[in-house]
Amino acid sequence: MKPKYDFLIVGTGLFGAVSAYLLRQKGYSICLIDKREHIGGNIYTEKVRGINVHKYGAHIFHTSNKQVWQFVNSFVEFNRYTNSPVANYKGKLYNLPFNMNTFYQMWGVKTPAEAMAKIEEQKKEYHIDHPQNLEEQAISLIGKDIYEALIKGYTQKQWGRKCTELPAFIIKRLPVRFTFDNNYFNDKYQGIPEGGYTALIEKMIEGCEVRLGVDYFDQKEALDALAERIIYTGEIDRYFNYQYGHLQYRTVSFETELLEGVDNYQGNAVVNYTDAETPYTRIIEHKHFEMFGSAIAECPDTIISREYSKEWQPGDEPYYPVNDDKNSALYAQYKALADSQTKVIFGGRLAEYKYYDMHKVIERAFEVVEQL
Ligand code: FAD
Ligand code: UDP
Repeated sequence: MKPKYDFLIVGTGLFGAVSAYLLRQKGYSICLIDKREHIGGNIYTEKVRGINVHKYGAHIFHTSNKQVWQFVNSFVEFNRYTNSPVANYKGKLYNLPFNMNTFYQMWGVKTPAEAMAKIEEQKKEYHIDHPQNLEEQAISLIGKDIYEALIKGYTQKQWGRKCTELPAFIIKRLPVRFTFDNNYFNDKYQGIPEGGYTALIEKMIEGCEVRLGVDYFDQKEALDALAERIIYTGEIDRYFNYQYGHLQYRTVSFETELLEGVDNYQGNAVVNYTDAETPYTRIIEHKHFEMFGSAIAECPDTIISREYSKEWQPGDEPYYPVNDDKNSALYAQYKALADSQTKVIFGGRLAEYKYYDMHKVIERAFEVVEQL
């Protein structure tokens, strides 16, 4: 008997939703499932007291890819939010990413030439020609003082590993600029969907059958029989029953608090606590992602989340793949198995074990669907 659907998509996160939309456009029938009770995966937002709360961590959309930007804007409008986090190091505030404001706050330097000279002077002591790890990369980019105050403690809390044990590429995500520009991203386009990310996902999967609270592995055989092909966006090691062992992740726990009668708690969406002692990495104040100017006070309450990063244990949400050598080698073994599957396509942050941002997930889904 012919299966009921052309595609079963396991996971209603961004990868699953974009693939579902593109495949439907091509005329395929789709059934989406998710083990969670809601759609959207980690970009899910929930409206509380008029504020869209980013339940699984702050998500800021940014891309330089016009096609991707036009694609997401075709579903919902995006606002003009520009991410400009502030770092709190032992009570003193610094602008991020590393720019002339940060250099002025750290050293009192006022011109790009003075800032560059200061960094050169600090770098010289270390003789780093080819940075081999995150510490060396950071020092060679912005010198010792900023590394010690704004990177070392935060990174060790975030990853639970010393900066000398982490790959250099992680810190290259952050811009270093010799202008007074606090925009965290260099991308051409940036914003947050009006109405939250859940509205974006809802639009993408309109018209598809969606089953929530369904874990694929609880009824794999029956679900496999439902469709000709499967797009799997869950953890790749789980798919293969952990036969080579567990991949490692970092997880985050969110301590979310409603502050009634406080309309503005920290004056910014993101404040990072970069010392090693404060147990959380950052505090998010959700309303600042979507309320600007007088709208902030017009909403009388606020909601904040403290983020605690920890090592993933079975049962926790796997958030960040740990792309160190050991885990990359293990992933390569699973990837070889995945490549030999004919009915199943693996895509997204968990199935490809990649530190993908949202725009990269969309690009990847475009690519995968095109290849189909
Ligand atoms: P997911 O969102 O994880 O979706 C996978 C889905 O599959 C989930 O809903 C899960 O429940 C479901 N699933 C898994 N296994 C099963 C199963 N066995 N049965 C049924 N369903 C299953 N990106 C940015 O661009 N900007 C940011 O500011 C940003 N901030 C981030 C902050 C944090 C804390 C984290 C963790 C990520 C952040 N990202 C950000 C990255 C962004 O979250 C990802 O790129 C994107 O969500 C990945 O989508 P996905 O569909 O691959 O995975
Ligand atoms: N980072 C840091 N100090 C900060 C912010 C970031 O040292 O105040 C480092 C940290 O190692 C982090 C990396 O820069 O993992 C990338 O930061 P980003 O904000 O891109 O991380 P995300 O939370 O988005 O994955």
